[in-house]
Amino acid sequence: MLYRPFGTTGEEISSLGFGCMRLPEKETDGQWSIDEEKAIPMLQKAYENGVNYFDTAPFYCHANSEITVGKALHNVRDKVMISTKCPMGDEIKEPGDYRRWLEKSLKKLDTDYIDFYHFWGINKGVFDEKIVGMDLLHEAQKAKEEGLIRHISFSFHDKPEVIRHIIDTAEQKGVPMETMLCQYNLLDRSNEEMITYAASKGLGTVAMGPVGGGRLSAPTDLYKRLTGKAPIATYELAFKFVLGHPHLCCALSGMGTMEMVEQNSKIGSDSTPITEEEWKQLGESAERLKKFSDLYCTGCAYCQPCPANINIPHLFNMFTYHNVYGLTDHARGEYQRYVKDGGKTVKDCKDCGLCEKKCPQHLKIRQELKRVEAVLQKL
Ligand code: SF4
Ligand code: SF4
Repeated sequence: MLYRPFGTTGEEISSLGFGCMRLPEKETDGQWSIDEEKAIPMLQKAYENGVNYFDTAPFYCHANSEITVGKALHNVRDKVMISTKCPMGDEIKEPGDYRRWLEKSLKKLDTDYIDFYHFWGINKGVFDEKIVGMDLLHEAQKAKEEGLIRHISFSFHDKPEVIRHIIDTAEQKGVPMETMLCQYNLLDRSNEEMITYAASKGLGTVAMGPVGGGRLSAPTDLYKRLTGKAPIATYELAFKFVLGHPHLCCALSGMGTMEMVEQNSKIGSDSTPITEEEWKQLGESAERLKKFSDLYCTGCAYCQPCPANINIPHLFNMFTYHNVYGLTDHARGEYQRYVKDGGKTVKDCKDCGLCEKKCPQHLKIRQELKRVEAVLQKL
C-alpha cells in the first residue's frame, strides 16, 4: 500500500480508504442487518493489505455500519484511523446535539476517540446557520481538547467555491478545518481546484466516489476512448485518475465484496501511478469528450438551489455517464437510486425559470430535464 502525508495532521494515510457504506447486508423479517460473516473479514483484509483509513457514518447500512466497523477493528484500533460524521440536518437543533451525536458514534464504534469527526455533507447554508451560527466549531474544539476526537473535518456538497468559504471562515474563527472529504472523479472534476486550495491551507484531502460509487467495475472502452490506448478496467482508470491529483491524499471506495477489497488494494499499492502529465491529459480528454456532447453541463451548481429541490447537475451528470461515456449501467443505477431516495424530478418543476437565469452555459434547463429524464427512465 502507498501512503501519503495527510495534510498537516501529522498522519500518513493509505492512498486507498475503505468507505463503509456498502458493507454486505441481509434482511430478516423486514429487518436489515450487516452480514458480519462477510463484512468483518473484508474490513480486516483491507487492514492486512495496508488500508489504514476507514470512513463510516451514523446512517450507513441502515445505521449498522459504525457497529460493524468498531467490531472489525477493535484489536487494531491504535493502528487505524476511523472517520465518522455528525449529521447536520434536523438532528442538530441546538449546540448540545453535536455532543449527543458524537457520544452515540463513540458508543456504536466501541471506542474512546474518533480520529476524524466530520461535519457531514454540509453546504453554505448549514455552515453559516449551524456551524458558525450555533458555534459548533467550538463544540468540536472542546471535544478535541477532551480527546474525544483527534481532528476536525467536514464533508461537502455544494458549489466548489463554498469550500474556500468554509476553510477561510473556520480559520478566522480560530478552529481550522483539518481534513476535507469531497466528491471528485474523472467524470466530475468540479472540486479539482478546491482540493488544491484545501491542500495549500494544510488540509488533508479525501475523495469520495472515485469509482462512481463502486459501480463502474465492468471493463469498458472508456480508457481507449479517452487516450487512444488499449482498454483497461474502468475502476482502475478511475482510481489512477483520482490518485493522480497531486494534492489528493486518499481515494475512498465503498467496497461491498472481498473481490473489490483485493482489486482496489492492488491499485492502492501500485507504485507506478499515472504521471501528473497523464493526469492532466486524462482530465482534459474527459472534458473534451463531454464538450462535444449535446448537453454540456459543467456541474458548477449555479442553478442550485432549485425551489422544487431538483438536483439538476446530478441528473445531467447521470445523463452524461450514459450519453458521453457509455456507462449506461452506472447511469441507470444512479437514477434509480436517486428516485428511490425521494429525489425530485422534472414533474416537480415549478416552471419558475430561476435555474436558466443562473446557468453560465445558457442551457435550456427545463427542456433538457424533460429530454434527459425521458432517456434515463428508459435505460
Ligand atoms: S424552473 Fe424548475 S428546475 Fe428550474 S429552478 Fe424553477 S423549479 Fe427548479
Ligand atoms: S445546469 Fe448550468 S448552472 Fe446547473 S450545473 Fe449545469 S452548467 Fe452549472
